[in-house]
Amino acid sequence: MGSHTNLKRRVMVALRKAGCLVTSYNGSIAGVLDLFICTPSGRYAELDIKVGRDKLSKLQQHRIKTVEASGGLAAEVRSVRDAMTALHLTCPNCGGATRAASGCMECPACGWSACEV
Ligand SMILES: [Zn+2]
Repeated sequence: MGSHTNLKRRVMVALRKAGCLVTSYNGSIAGVLDLFICTPSGRYAELDIKVGRDKLSKLQQHRIKTVEASGGLAAEVRSVRDAMTALHLTCPNCGGATRAASGCMECPACGWSACEV
């Protein structure tokens, strides 16, 4: 079907448009997620694209906890919106676009800040 590849491509386009550095990982290290990202605020992130009944493996769940424990962001995403929200590129309060300020993603519309979560 290629829907995984298609969604991955759409997520990569949206993240790059929002100012992220995005690298697609096509290697074979078990448990590593699909995308390596640096957000506009300098935060490290990994995302795993899932479609249909596909779900995270035990190793991937562990990887997400490990990335988060190091101060990064990591998540399973099933849509472009999931990805934008997971990386704080879309404001969870008002849905507006955020911007990098003082090493953090902030919403100019409502004042929400990822650093105060
Ligand atoms: Zn907002």
